[in-house]
Amino acid sequence: VSKHSIDIAIVGAGIIGVCIAEKLQSEGYQVTLIDSEPPGSGCSSGNAGHFATDIILPLANVKTLLSVPKLLLDPLGPLTISWRYLPKLIPWLGRFAWAAMPHQAAHTIEAIKQLNRPAIKDYQTLLARTNLQHMMVQQGALSVFQSERAKRSNQQHLALVRDHGVNVDLLTQQQVQELEPNLKSSLIGGLYYPDTAHCLDPHHLVLNLAHHVFEQGGQLIQDKVKAMTPTGQDTIKIVCEGQTFSAKQVIVAAGAWSKDLVEPLGYKLPLETERGYHLMLPNAAQHLTRPVTSFERSFVMTPMQQGLRLAGTVELAGLDAAPNYQRAAVLHQHAKEVIKPFDDSDASHWMGHRPSFPDSLPVIDRCKYHSNILYAFGHQHLGLTQAATTANLIANLLQNSRQTNSAYAVDRF
Ligand SMILES: Cc1cc2nc3c(=O)[nH]c(=O)nc-3n(C[C@H](O)[C@H](O)[C@H](O)COP(=O)(O)OP(=O)(O)OC[C@H]3O[C@@H](n4cnc5c(N)ncnc54)[C@H](O)[C@@H]3O)c2cc1C
Repeated sequence: VSKHSIDIAIVGAGIIGVCIAEKLQSEGYQVTLIDSEPPGSGCSSGNAGHFATDIILPLANVKTLLSVPKLLLDPLGPLTISWRYLPKLIPWLGRFAWAAMPHQAAHTIEAIKQLNRPAIKDYQTLLARTNLQHMMVQQGALSVFQSERAKRSNQQHLALVRDHGVNVDLLTQQQVQELEPNLKSSLIGGLYYPDTAHCLDPHHLVLNLAHHVFEQGGQLIQDKVKAMTPTGQDTIKIVCEGQTFSAKQVIVAAGAWSKDLVEPLGYKLPLETERGYHLMLPNAAQHLTRPVTSFERSFVMTPMQQGLRLAGTVELAGLDAAPNYQRAAVLHQHAKEVIKPFDDSDASHWMGHRPSFPDSLPVIDRCKYHSNILYAFGHQHLGLTQAATTANLIANLLQNSRQTNSAYAVDRF
């Protein structure tokens, strides 16, 4: 073991890892981020940038289950499963179906709300502390629809989420046009969520937060963690490809790659990846002023510093399969149906690995077998939204040994 000894090692420098590093550092801890790649190289760089506090229904619900057969018939549709990967997925899909049962889903909604409710306020505090307030724009978000049938479905959705405390209004076609004049007039209405926000550049948010941590004395070790072994002397040996360290505390925040890292520590977790895609249109940023989701086409368009980002789709194909960028290209076709003609020159595509448990909730907990190892991963579609709040929960766990909500427990599976 090298002489190098670390107080708190955070494995993974995505949005979850850097928010935790910043929070702990602000409370006086010595932090070291370890990542095989530069900060923000994983899923956190290319997401849709929506601080989506309005999304409180888990993906695992009866409606999703009923729509699966139809969705699977379209290989470029919003959900696809790799047939080759299917055998490995079956246990996860079984748990997903169980989590979708109404009594389970009701429990999950409460747990999502607990993370989403304080999310914007927690970011405001974090961004003020790091002088990055300009990265978050609070202009709400729209979800738009094209048919009367979709309108009825959206009215039901409105009643449901309002009951859960989400601030939402039903807009007419004209009101939608007033908010976003570049949306097509074939859209007959929308739901407006005034309290949500968006990020002007998710990758730079991670980079800037990491930079802040390093400026304040935090360290970065760029190396791949191969194993973490408790030594019995209140330290953890962290074996990386190039070097070995010991740390007093370790926080695992390695997103979709966390599963293999924690398995030797006593947990075989049903963590899968829901791969998602984006298409970036660098010359169309001015087209919209807030995130707009198309209800029928299940994708989101967010105006960012570097252009208009079209993002979405779920592809269940594991961590290793090559990207299928046709899934990003199809977003271009969808956008043409929803927004007025736009400049599509110099478009670029991206694929990222959402870290997802079958019940649509993360693990935010302490390892039951080794009390100086903590877990913060599995934030699926809401990792950007929930990162600042997750960091606060981890800080509480570290200081008080207090349990978080049992819905985020590592031993719930
Ligand atoms: C298309 C798309 C759109 C999305 N839109 C939104 C949105 O609008 N709003 C929202 O809230 N969320 C959104 N998400 C989800 C969000 O991006 C993720 O939940 C979030 O980025 C997960 O962050 P993370 O830090 O856990 O993981 P990551 O960002 O993937 O970071 C994990 C890090 O761990 C490192 N790592 C892995 N293994 C090791 C190892 N062995 N040793 C060292 N380092 C390691 C990786 O290199 C990586 O940097 C979207 C996702 C996708 C794909």
